[in-house]
Amino acid sequence: MITRWALIALIGALLAAFAPLASSAHAQTNAEDSSTLAPFFALQEQDQRVFSIGHRLLSANTDYCSSRVTNFGFQLHSLDQYGDPSAAQSAFGLVSGYPSISALVQNGAAERAGLQKNDVILAVFAQGRQIAWPKSGIGPHRVTQGNYTIWPTSETEQSELAPAIMLARMLANRPLKHEEITFAVQRNGEQIYLPVKPDITCATRFQLESSRKRRAATDGELITITTKLVEITRNDEELAAILAHELAHNFLQHPDKLTAAGVDRGLLGQLGSSAGKIKATEIEADRLSVWLMANAGFDPEGAIRFWTFFGKKYGKGIFSAPTHYRWKKRVRLFEEEIAAMATAERDENGLLPPPLLLSGGAEID
Ligand SMILES: [Zn+2]
Repeated sequence: MITRWALIALIGALLAAFAPLASSAHAQTNAEDSSTLAPFFALQEQDQRVFSIGHRLLSANTDYCSSRVTNFGFQLHSLDQYGDPSAAQSAFGLVSGYPSISALVQNGAAERAGLQKNDVILAVFAQGRQIAWPKSGIGPHRVTQGNYTIWPTSETEQSELAPAIMLARMLANRPLKHEEITFAVQRNGEQIYLPVKPDITCATRFQLESSRKRRAATDGELITITTKLVEITRNDEELAAILAHELAHNFLQHPDKLTAAGVDRGLLGQLGSSAGKIKATEIEADRLSVWLMANAGFDPEGAIRFWTFFGKKYGKGIFSAPTHYRWKKRVRLFEEEIAAMATAERDENGLLPPPLLLSGGAEID
């Protein structure tokens, strides 16, 4: 499904109470007992799983997506994204006002360069105009080396966005040049400088939302999936099936196309011709998803297994809405595409060129 709630939820989270913290950089060993922190570690593990599978889908299909970004292979988080900042600080050693690394993809750009989980990013340096460290009195840290700061700037410090989101966006907007970016990080109380050469992959970021609802959605740039939906997947290929469906919406620019066609994706959007337009995008997303999975080395039959299981168990909800096919029809779409894959010619890298990415998908009007 595609809805706008992801962005709304995100803004809601950002407006949640921000609790300034004392500048303890060694919070991981404080008095919080492990039962309080266990859910945070579980969340981090899930985040790692979503991010790794998402990254694999992005990387494998890079030759065929039209929108590409610099990709550092890390997932960021910051204190103001958590409802209980004190416990989050204890769990991850987060420092108020700074992004930290919550997950790294194996052999991604950041891991290759030596960055580690829970590194606190103090500053970022790149070729460009020099911007002085804006307010040296702010925060517990002061960067002592380096010539070119691109973050934080006085603008980003005034931003209402969480530091993790601000930095993720800034990095994704860097030019596609494999330029070296140096991160000043704090690790175990020490300041370390690590140059990283980013990879270039398809554009899209991932976000895990702590929720008992089973849903995944995209706003065109950011895919949000709930912890509950992740939990009901029985293996990685099933999670890949969900993420590939949402990615397919992004690669085919469905959110933009629907907006341009004046489709309301809220509740009203599920009526009349709007429902038909949304359904058309859902069919395309299902068709493309299995190609994306296959190129990333996931068994595309995993989509059939997951949506059959999901449809049988929860099919009375959103998937009985007029915007979506019932699961049996969806399975038929997957089968058709998997049959087409069997006769498709692979490219010189052994990848299957997804027909919908070559054609750009149907116009919606
Ligand atoms: Zn969808």
